[in-house]
Amino acid sequence: MSNLPSEPEFEQAYNELASTLENSTLFEKHPEYRKALKVAAIPERVIQFRVTWEDDKGEVQVNRGFRVQFNSALGPYKGGLRLHPSVNLSILKFLGFEQIFKNALTGLNMGGGKGGSDFDPKGKSDNEIRRFCVSFMRELNKHIGADTDVPAGDIGTTGREIGYMFGAYRAEKNKWEGVLTGKGATWGGSLIRPEATGYGLVYYVEHMIKYASGGKESFQGKRVAISGSGNVAQYAALKVIELGGTVVSLSDSKGALVATGTEGFTPEHINTIADLKVKFKQLSELAESAQYKSKFQYIAGARPWVHVGKVDVALPSATQNEVSGEEAEKLIEAGAKFIAEGSNMGCTQQAIDIFEKCRKENKGNAIWYAPGKAANAGGVAVSGLEMAQNSARLKWTAEEVDEKLKGIMQNCFENCLSTAQEYVPSAEGEFPSLVAGGNIAGFSKVAAAM
Ligand code: GLU
Repeated sequence: MSNLPSEPEFEQAYNELASTLENSTLFEKHPEYRKALKVAAIPERVIQFRVTWEDDKGEVQVNRGFRVQFNSALGPYKGGLRLHPSVNLSILKFLGFEQIFKNALTGLNMGGGKGGSDFDPKGKSDNEIRRFCVSFMRELNKHIGADTDVPAGDIGTTGREIGYMFGAYRAEKNKWEGVLTGKGATWGGSLIRPEATGYGLVYYVEHMIKYASGGKESFQGKRVAISGSGNVAQYAALKVIELGGTVVSLSDSKGALVATGTEGFTPEHINTIADLKVKFKQLSELAESAQYKSKFQYIAGARPWVHVGKVDVALPSATQNEVSGEEAEKLIEAGAKFIAEGSNMGCTQQAIDIFEKCRKENKGNAIWYAPGKAANAGGVAVSGLEMAQNSARLKWTAEEVDEKLKGIMQNCFENCLSTAQEYVPSAEGEFPSLVAGGNIAGFSKVAAAM
């Protein structure tokens, strides 16, 4: 019996990683890594603090601030800041834990961390958000730095929040350093950083499709269900459309938006949604507007998966545990062959087990699942490239960054594949497990460094 409080999200993330390591030959080859796993389960440091700020009525408000500095074996702690009322230590520990191995899979030298607050930016004025961010950074600045810990965005933390925090850091420390990534392009941000997670996700899935079809297929003509409507979902959708696929759904915290025609979402729709989101408006507004009424159906209180009809690809890109076991079954019935997470731990363990069972049983016609720590690594990868540009006082072109991102996603896919082939016993014709491959590849790099 543990005397520690239960941390369901963190325990889920830990068990998912540990079970794939146990079911491989990794510990036979490296018995010393068992100890490394035990050590890696405890963050190097957790910082918790109080954030007081003044609302527009002049009232004092208070929130909880956190930074989990999980593992610095590979480099400075690196990972986003989540601003959402659900934030607690269990969620930030799960995110920080995943981030360690995701960052390792980028091939760059970044440790893993995560932070945030239970502050809810929704419904707050720009001034309130600014006052919160400045107050948050008044404490956080003592614990971070370009070579110590480099935060970035996550749910609720966009370029606006990064801007307020970066300004506060500069003022506190009287120095310019690349201490946050996801900065604006005119003040040290990398081009392609806003697009990177969504683009990288689609680049990763392109490799899955190519491998599975022996090079015959691509996104061309594929129906793609996406959840979420934030930065990851928006840019994933735009890239899918650019590559000839049809995006059939998006969603927000209140429901799913499903395209009713054959055309799916267009770039114009995605831009309209991006404008709505900046103003914290709901997707239901789009479905209700006279202009778009005939094109979309909004299903309140639902996630898209059981409402999308036939699909080839599913990209959960909203938040953790957004695909249940039942929804996984429905997606398979709907024809989905490729499931890849734009969100962190987007699938429940039940959903992963169902996808993995299908992968084993279907052999050549497999359902193939890619975990977030591999498939959504493009965001933090370009954060790493932003750190490199800041340190070198250089700025690369969008084309240069995009090329590097493509290379990183290709290496990440091939690393997951070859590591699974090396360490996971499999039957003839079975597709390698990307979840096991990603976990083993990320973990062994960190364990060796530790
Ligand atoms: N929050 C993103 C992630 O989950 C990006 C982190 C970063 O750029 O540091 O990977």
